[in-house]
Amino acid sequence: MIEICEVGPRDGLQNECKMVSTESKVELITRLLDSGIRNIEAVSFVNPKVVPQMADAEEVLKSLPKRNRVRYGGLVLSRSGLERALKTDVDFLHVVTTTSDSFNLRNAKRTVEQAVEELSLVIKDGASSGKGVSGVLGTSFGCPFEGEVPLENVLKAAERFLEAGCTEITLADTTGMANPVQVQKVAETFFDTFGMDLLLGLHFHNTRGLGLANVLAGYHAGVRRFDSSIAGLGGCPFAPKAVGNVCTEDMINMFHGMGADTGTDLPAVLETAKWMETVMERPLDGMLMKAGIA
Ligand code: ZN
Repeated sequence: MIEICEVGPRDGLQNECKMVSTESKVELITRLLDSGIRNIEAVSFVNPKVVPQMADAEEVLKSLPKRNRVRYGGLVLSRSGLERALKTDVDFLHVVTTTSDSFNLRNAKRTVEQAVEELSLVIKDGASSGKGVSGVLGTSFGCPFEGEVPLENVLKAAERFLEAGCTEITLADTTGMANPVQVQKVAETFFDTFGMDLLLGLHFHNTRGLGLANVLAGYHAGVRRFDSSIAGLGGCPFAPKAVGNVCTEDMINMFHGMGADTGTDLPAVLETAKWMETVMERPLDGMLMKAGIA
């Protein structure tokens, strides 16, 4: 069984220029639930001044339907994000750092070591409050400023996050630099190091057109958890170099074609993708919307 983590409401919308209302976000998430998706990264507790699109995190969470076996995640980048998250009903904290010093210094004004140190305490406090905690490691497959990120640095950060209380790790290809051979090698090394029981997720962007190829490489290495965005959200045409996540319905279509179960209703997901185009008022990147289900 493939577990999809839908990140459209967070990573997707965060990279869209058009502001989306709280009401539309709630409708999007409700539609996703109705189509069988159970794990949704719904919000980010980032500073609203930095990412205005995510400013309504608390309101979104308050308005979401409460259902069994549904998991709402929220991105946490700092102690202040944790404090906001703990006042909400969010189920899982997705605690994120990048693994490249240059990238992290530009975006979070601290080295990876400093970030891991601070976030380990955030993870500890989050876990002891009863929330689930997932560790997300950005730039795991390369950094636009440094190029290759040594795998041992990614492994080291993962180890620290797991020790602090994360129950799962997601490796993110923040700027779409991964290739399938690399993905297979990285995933296999993670399973060799932490055991096959490690809950390992992969998060790809389609920046250079390799999103689904990378998902498939991860699948062959034993990964069964993948992030994706409905309709491939996240490629605002006015934002330089922004390209969306791997597209949810395209990924589901690939897995169903391979005979792998995702627990989702593909026609319903496709309808939601088409609806999302009307919300964003622009054509989105998903391919299945254009071609239809074969
Ligand atoms: Zn991302």
